[in-house]
Amino acid sequence: MKRIYLDYAATTPMHKDVLEAMQPYFTDKFGNPSSIHSFGREAKSAIDKSRDLIANFIGAKSDEILFTSGGTESDNQAIKEVVFTNSQRGNHIITTTIEHHAVLETCHLLKNLGYKITYVPVDKFGLVNPDEIKSAITDKTILISVMHANNEIGSLEPITEIGKIAKERGILFHTDAVQTFGAIPINVDELNIDMLSASAHKLYGPKGIGILYVRKGTRIGSLLHGGSQERRKRAGTENVAGIVGFGKAVEIAKIDMEKDDLKLKILNDRLKNGISSRIDDIFYNGHPEKRLPKNISVCIKYIEGESMLLNLDMKGIAASTGSACSSGSLEPSHVMLAIGLPHELAHGSLRFTMGKYTTEQDIDYVLEILPPIVEKLRSMSPLYKKE
Ligand SMILES: *Cc1c(COP(=O)(O)O)cnc(C)c1O
Repeated sequence: MKRIYLDYAATTPMHKDVLEAMQPYFTDKFGNPSSIHSFGREAKSAIDKSRDLIANFIGAKSDEILFTSGGTESDNQAIKEVVFTNSQRGNHIITTTIEHHAVLETCHLLKNLGYKITYVPVDKFGLVNPDEIKSAITDKTILISVMHANNEIGSLEPITEIGKIAKERGILFHTDAVQTFGAIPINVDELNIDMLSASAHKLYGPKGIGILYVRKGTRIGSLLHGGSQERRKRAGTENVAGIVGFGKAVEIAKIDMEKDDLKLKILNDRLKNGISSRIDDIFYNGHPEKRLPKNISVCIKYIEGESMLLNLDMKGIAASTGSACSSGSLEPSHVMLAIGLPHELAHGSLRFTMGKYTTEQDIDYVLEILPPIVEKLRSMSPLYKKE
């Protein structure tokens, strides 16, 4: 059976050039970058090269890039280690209701430790209003964390404005840019970002390697204690092959970003228009324009997202109901609830995320398979009555 992958927001296949770049660092070039002999120096120089490439990609300096194990670790470090290090300045953190669990759960822990957290709500498009961030600021606020684009509905948050507000008030600003890094241009100065999380496996790189950008002068501690790697900000022998792979993925993103973006817009229109003309009683989540072109989040009324997923999967189509982390639980996604959907509609959401290897044929296959699935499920649904 043919298999069609439309879950690029969960993870991406690795680009073959990335694999090729990484391979020698598992075998011949296996040195520990902390060793002073030639094996060590070889590994160290590969890391330096990757760090330079990644820093350059977002307008940062090389010593502002920390390598971590991924988006989750970067979010954890950015939040916990800034808060612990700066707690003499205050105990208040501002974030939003639609963040990734890596941010929300970290804030939850801090709340249990006695910190104050404000979760700024979003509008029906999933956008946070910078004015509401501004009014949430108190003289105890030490950190604002707002994601760049949401992983479930694709909406792009007004982080430039939020960064500007944070800067004016002398508050640190962190953004989870895992969904945008490598997909759209990012410049940390233009966007007023103090800290940024990214993860290689969302841009055709390997899993288990991420970065945390930390603006020079930011007081931040290490999540892991041990050796003096990463300028004492992240102990543990570096994931050399992963770091090389991340660098290569960024090199490729630099070249492909614009044309991929264009292609994804065309595919997005094709899928969205196709669904709209074939299925009634649906609506799309997220902002109509301020959004990532890889993402389509659609609510199909009267049926459950989970049942659609299972039926699509039987036909070889891999989609998602929201975030990978929410599936398997019966609770509807916090993002769907945050944009104001009632429980029954929140359960009917379906997410398609496309990428570099998605073709028009893939989209057309979905358009052939999805409508009869919806029709079948609706015919069994007690909620659905055709006029
Ligand atoms: C995938 C994702 C993460 C987690 O990154 P990992 O590298 O898988 O830990 C965090 N935030 C967002 C927005 C994501 O999409």
